[in-house]
Amino acid sequence: MRAVAILTAAGSGERLGGGGPKALVELGGVPLVVRAAHALLGSGVVDHLVVTAPGDAVVQVADALARAEPPVAADVVVGGASRQASVAAGLAVVAALPGAGPGLVVLVHDAARPQVPADVVRRVVAAVRAGHGAVVPGLPVTDTVKQVDAPRDGAARVLGTPDRRALRAVQTPQGFTLDVLARAHGAGAARAGDEATAATDDAALVEALGLDVWVVDGHEDAMKITTVRDLAVAHALLAPEPPDGGR
Ligand code: C5P
Repeated sequence: MRAVAILTAAGSGERLGGGGPKALVELGGVPLVVRAAHALLGSGVVDHLVVTAPGDAVVQVADALARAEPPVAADVVVGGASRQASVAAGLAVVAALPGAGPGLVVLVHDAARPQVPADVVRRVVAAVRAGHGAVVPGLPVTDTVKQVDAPRDGAARVLGTPDRRALRAVQTPQGFTLDVLARAHGAGAARAGDEATAATDDAALVEALGLDVWVVDGHEDAMKITTVRDLAVAHALLAPEPPDGGR
């Protein structure tokens, strides 16, 4: 196998409105989870997908993938209380795949980033293959970023200003060897049950293990869709779905 991807689609999507899971919100008539799946498979380096879905929407997510044009074959599993827990659920399925060994390249990608370019996916996989056990795509930060205290009376005290030349805004897919990702999730498992303690990306769990994480170039098109405004921006930037779903 070249690489396997865990596609996280178990978020509730409250900030997007719409009343259903975010992954089923449509962008140009195609659900986000379907666009993200086509983007991963269209890179030509991903052999299999494991998709995490909300417990009450597993059938809908599986249907959306099966009815896509072209259809997407994937294992759909119930996600968890946090993104970290959802990835752990997907990882258990990946580890049980026939032929899955410690060196298997495993990507973790958010369905909320439906337009990730194929080049980014390939760059991450290539860097893992080249010997980096944990790789994230990232972009330089153009805003100046402040670290702040807990807000009081509508204002938060500034604690410091990191040098923005040393900052990267990181995206997905993040890539790992199966060995590194499994060890990181195993060591951090106690954090997963609560959004307040859970890691917001998988690389943070690898960092907590004391292992190196490497950044390669990301792309603005891999933007995350969180709000109605993000969805409108993504719509304005929409590239047509390739008629063959990218394959
Ligand atoms: O909510 P957040 O922005 O962290 O979500 C990032 C991605 O993780 C989304 O694609 C969402 O569907 C997924 N997620 C998940 N399980 C959760 C929460 C979020 O798979 N419990």
